[in-house]
Amino acid sequence: MSGVQLRNIVKRFGDVEVIHGIDLDIDHGEFCVFVGPSGCGKSTLLRMIAGLEETSGGQIDIGGDDVTHADAADRGVAMVFQTYALYPHMTVRENMGFGLKMTGHPKSEIAQKVDEAARILKLEPLLDRKPAALSGGQRQRVAIGRAIVRGPKVFLFDEPLSNLDAELRVEMRAEIARLHREIGATMIYVTHDQVEAMTMADKIVVLRGGHIEQVGAPMHLYEDPDNRFVAGFIGSPS
Ligand code: ADP
Ligand code: MG
Repeated sequence: MSGVQLRNIVKRFGDVEVIHGIDLDIDHGEFCVFVGPSGCGKSTLLRMIAGLEETSGGQIDIGGDDVTHADAADRGVAMVFQTYALYPHMTVRENMGFGLKMTGHPKSEIAQKVDEAARILKLEPLLDRKPAALSGGQRQRVAIGRAIVRGPKVFLFDEPLSNLDAELRVEMRAEIARLHREIGATMIYVTHDQVEAMTMADKIVVLRGGHIEQVGAPMHLYEDPDNRFVAGFIGSPS
């Protein structure tokens, strides 16, 4: 099981507290979307779950283990970065296998994992190309493939589609939803895009100024927002 529990998570940068004691349960296999305006703390929260940022207080459990002070590499999480993070001089195959190569995995195992990720993402015909010879959507698939090969329990996405055009965004949303169905891993997806939140989420977490305004299924937030901020953000009529 690979649920994620946050207990009273606090984050300070110097004297400034930006996350004010967040409690949240994300179930195993759930597609959880963090949504909220720019600067509300979405990325900071995700980076603390990933282990890329220290917490200032509270506890993070993944799969029932306290990982609050664990190294990023030991948490069983993988972050999907935006496509500009691909290595331009490496092929698709090398880009996807690079993380495993660095951690000393045998070549045969890397090849098998890359092939499996390429199958899931329909990248098989493109494995020998370099990123410059790929479309935006194909590059995004490679960025996701790099996460898949590591076999994480939890996938973390930080606005992965924000530099794609509108048409491609729609296509990639469907692609990520299909990936979630096929792999069944827990996914936490950050966006400031209400449409993305409403169409992709099992559960939406609405953040504002470093705290949670409301948590619920998309239709629940739409039909029964706790306050005007949530209603305004989700786009419901009240
Ligand atoms: P979001 O992803 O929702 O746009 P962030 O998590 O990036 O928001 O930022 C939340 C708050 O923390 C903002 O006020 C931001 O300025 C501040 N912040 C983020 N990272 C740092 C940092 N490394 N040093 C100081 N302040 C930061
Ligand atoms: Mg952000």
